[in-house]
Amino acid sequence: MAVPFRRTSKTQKRKRRTHFKLNVPGMVVCPNCGEMKLAHRVCKVCGTYNGKTVIEEKQEVEAE
Ligand SMILES: [Zn+2]
Repeated sequence: MAVPFRRTSKTQKRKRRTHFKLNVPGMVVCPNCGEMKLAHRVCKVCGTYNGKTVIEEKQEVEAE
């Protein structure tokens, strides 16, 4: 294990924590509805994956 040459200064520690991740990795914005969803999984909100509707919504009425 490496021994640090100097202790990390208060400034360096605070700078490092400025880009602390708030959201969980593996979460992406759904291209269909814009909500946060798990990557490589069907969106729970709109039920689409890879541009296709996988889960049909009961509330949604399609005109076509
Ligand atoms: Zn969606």
